[in-house]
Amino acid sequence: MNNLDKIDSEKLEGLLSAEDEFIKYQLAIIKNCDLKIGGFNKKKRKTEDLLREASRRLELINQTILLKRGVPEEVGKLRAGILFIMGQANRTDITVDAVNNFRSQIEQQKLDLQKICNHPFVVGYSGYHGSYSYDHDDGYAGCRICLVCDFTEYAKRGYAADICSNAEKYEQLSESANRLIRFINKEDLRSRNYFWRPIEEIFEWFFNKRVLKMLNDAQQK
Ligand SMILES: [Zn+2]
Repeated sequence: MNNLDKIDSEKLEGLLSAEDEFIKYQLAIIKNCDLKIGGFNKKKRKTEDLLREASRRLELINQTILLKRGVPEEVGKLRAGILFIMGQANRTDITVDAVNNFRSQIEQQKLDLQKICNHPFVVGYSGYHGSYSYDHDDGYAGCRICLVCDFTEYAKRGYAADICSNAEKYEQLSESANRLIRFINKEDLRSRNYFWRPIEEIFEWFFNKRVLKMLNDAQQK
């Protein structure tokens, strides 16, 4: 008797349909898992969106806390004094000597201010590595300027691929939890009068109105 003769065809059919059933059952489990995975992935994506929105809100709240904190009294007073002298220096009814005297006072007081300022509100632009066609001669380093005391720093090395990149290195005006940095383009910085504005104007410029809505919404909850 050879091996095949030992096999009962009917029983073999039975085994076939049992395996068939088993496979169908496992496939159904996998299908069910896929549905659940799909559901979980959707939930994960939605949660990631919520997280992103929350961290943006957190950032805005932190920014507003810094703006509310403002500058130390000493810094504010010295700065207001400089603005006052600047107004005096622009008078047309004074002598050239008086103007020069005001100007040297301004320069000295600016230096004094820069010594005590921790540069909390900064404006800047990112560097550009230059174009290949100009042999990179049109490249320039990034620059940051404190709007409180006018302290200016150029990036030491590295060029940002985009405005959020940390590739640029700053010794004084680097990213910090106590510093707001707003990026604008280079041409904008030159053409607009951002500097030596009253401190309240600087705060307004950094302030994001969305925080008002957030506070309003929170109150209604
Ligand atoms: Zn400063």
